[in-house]
Amino acid sequence: MRVKCVLCDKIDTIDDETLEAKRLRNRPIHTYMCGPCNNRIEIKTNERIKTGNFRLYRDKKTEDHW
Ligand SMILES: [Zn+2]
Repeated sequence: MRVKCVLCDKIDTIDDETLEAKRLRNRPIHTYMCGPCNNRIEIKTNERIKTGNFRLYRDKKTEDHW
């Protein structure tokens, strides 16, 4: 299926069998992002995690308990 990236308007073709294609078909609201844009968002998210605005992790000490 053909999909358009919401960020850069690039048209991509993705395999109909992929999970992403199914998700996009089931929910048209679900937006598509191409690889480069996805990476950009990921980097931004990671940076935010590093600066401490996000708290995704639980206390790591519990993991060291063995
Ligand atoms: Zn894009």
